[in-house]
Amino acid sequence: MADISALEKMRQYFDAGTTKPYAFRKEQLKKLKTSILSHEQELYDALYADLKKSPEETWVTETGMVLAELNTAIKHLKSWMSPDRVGTNLLNLPSRSRVMKEPLGVVLIIGPWNYPFQLLINPLIGAIAAGNCVVLKPSEFAPATDAVMKKVIEEVFSKEYILYVQGDGATVIPQMTNNFTFGHIFYTGSTAVGKIIYKMAAERLVPVTLELGGKSPCIVESDANIKVSARRIAMTKFSNAGQMCVAPDYVLVQESVKDKFIAAVKETIQQFYTERPEESYNYGKIINEKQFDRIANYLSNGTKIHGGRINKEKLFIEPTILTDVPLDAPVMQDEIFGPVLPIISFNTMSDAKKIIDKHPNPLSIYVYTSSKKKENEWLEAIPAGGGCVNNSSWHLTNHNLPFGGRGFSGTGNYHGKYSFDTFSHKKAIMKTPTWFDPKIKYPPLKGRLKLFKWVIR
Ligand code: NAD
Repeated sequence: MADISALEKMRQYFDAGTTKPYAFRKEQLKKLKTSILSHEQELYDALYADLKKSPEETWVTETGMVLAELNTAIKHLKSWMSPDRVGTNLLNLPSRSRVMKEPLGVVLIIGPWNYPFQLLINPLIGAIAAGNCVVLKPSEFAPATDAVMKKVIEEVFSKEYILYVQGDGATVIPQMTNNFTFGHIFYTGSTAVGKIIYKMAAERLVPVTLELGGKSPCIVESDANIKVSARRIAMTKFSNAGQMCVAPDYVLVQESVKDKFIAAVKETIQQFYTERPEESYNYGKIINEKQFDRIANYLSNGTKIHGGRINKEKLFIEPTILTDVPLDAPVMQDEIFGPVLPIISFNTMSDAKKIIDKHPNPLSIYVYTSSKKKENEWLEAIPAGGGCVNNSSWHLTNHNLPFGGRGFSGTGNYHGKYSFDTFSHKKAIMKTPTWFDPKIKYPPLKGRLKLFKWVIR
């Protein structure tokens, strides 16, 4: 737990200006990279212990993704840091204008358990690049990964610069936020806890980024490539046993292709995970009993047409397809966050939209269609954080795209340069030469209305 004096020491360290120079920031990013690489095997072992992730899955969704983000930040840091020159309007000529990027101070990053490494360390990269000091609060529910991350951080960073704080969020976070004014709070996790964080931040007017969850719909139109759609939907729905914020939560499939689509998803699940997914190298486990019980309850919310087997001892829930799901059933009310896929058919776009609108502003929307017209109709009809066409979830792996939600699914975004921007203040500066100082700007102003109307328009 961080006592307040530890946070004050961080503030002093920040105020001394040590974290601001380009050379310092670049060196810290490189140190982080070296530390991650030197613990690569331990991270594989830890993510297997916490979530039964294979090294391949860990590289794609955790370590490799973070290293790619680090490489991008190291490569572009100088240009990200340099002030942006912008134009100056007629009124202010011959002044010149620029936008400086100022670090926010001591910032707090709070992570969840589902991608415990990536979702804590990716924002850290942006915070370091932007010149901040950082308090890192990992989830307490992925203990093996938590222990390795502590080593990764503490072996290369001083506690005045990056402080790693473990423990139950409900206890340690209020202790810190009630007694210390952070420069920014970056939170990834559930919408329920996101609201608590937002309120705590508001008490001290601390800006926040909230990366939350929600029910991300997946729409399969009659003209979609059914085989490819089934493969891409199953891939991210059942990856990490469905515990993914951008997983397709449920599928809305055009009635005319429903049976074909269901058959294709069933076949795909067997190809990916065999007849016995509990023994599959490629299939993960549920994080803990609390989540297991929550997800297992959804299995009775419809007709199980595939899967449905569970084993509490192994925290195993089989990839499961549900049909005949009432819209008021819990599985269609909550974010599922597990390997249960409701498939619901629709006839018209307006029928499907009504279902989606029950949970506004999803984190993502996925549209499967070969029609450009339908693609545009769907993307324009549903306000969402982001999304894909003929794909699911992969948009978050392109660091050129901002990743984040809107409204109920979050506020703010990050990845690549967007992370740097999230952890920087844009300081607007105008510089005015003294050689040109027309009296017309100064009082008395009487009689100049016509002139001002011409200059300011
Ligand atoms: P969670 O909200 O339970 O916990 C997240 C973090 O908040 C943890 O570090 C925890 O210690 C802390 N915390 C918990 N209770 C707290 C409290 N009362 N006060 C302060 N801090 C508290 O979330 P989770 O179960 O770890 O993650 C699952 C959720 O996160 C899902 O809803 C998922 O969609 C969402 N998620 C979103 C993204 C995204 O990028 N948008 C990514 C992953 C997960």
